Amino acid sequence: MEFNERQGHIIEIVKKYEPITSEKIASLLNVTRSTLRTDLSILTKTHVLEARPKVGYCYVGHQFSSKLLSSAKKITVHDVMSRSVAIDEKVSIYDAIVTMFLEDVGTIFVLSDNYLAGVISRKDFIKTAIGGADMKSIPVGMMMTRMPNIVVADENEPIILAAKKLMDHEIDCMPVVEKSEGTSNLKVLGRISKTNVTEFFVDMFKEIK
Ligand code: ADP
Repeated sequence: MEFNERQGHIIEIVKKYEPITSEKIASLLNVTRSTLRTDLSILTKTHVLEARPKVGYCYVGHQFSSKLLSSAKKITVHDVMSRSVAIDEKVSIYDAIVTMFLEDVGTIFVLSDNYLAGVISRKDFIKTAIGGADMKSIPVGMMMTRMPNIVVADENEPIILAAKKLMDHEIDCMPVVEKSEGTSNLKVLGRISKTNVTEFFVDMFKEIK
């Protein structure tokens, strides 16, 4: 977890003078106590500082956040991914929309000879509809986002990095892939979506009521 400059100064002061009251921290930083209220609240809630009644603030360390970080890093895409929903590139847009509803997903992976060829999502279907195209005759291969522009995930990457990829590329879902031996073709093993990531966080903090 990253702290701002003043929070960094507070940590240094508490480490040096603990136990120390908020008045003393404020006077060392030459600010008022109320200026420090939010910073002290953040630092105690993240378990970096502990507020001991009638004693003052003590440094507890970054154990809590680093423990959380190291356990979160161990959770991989493999642990969180769900079953892939894929169709062949020759399937019509109409049938792909039916699949989207039946499978209750917003993104479908598109295959060519059983390897990843592209991705088609709600917006692509809406674009096709707005364009007035004949949904029953146009294959998904014509409207999909295609390889090599597909953002993919590896089974072994930490879920946190996969989540960052979803955010950075502003997409809802990625195929989890594996290279087919001796070729650049990608086999689809599963899917990782914003829903999977949210489920992971809800699960991780399920004690919080
Ligand atoms: P929605 O269409 O439901 O808003 P997205 O935001 O995920 O879903 O998709 C927006 C665009 O990004 C669409 O054109 C889609 O084809 C494309 N897209 C979706 N997922 C990926 C991916 N993993 N890699 C590359 N492009 C993608």
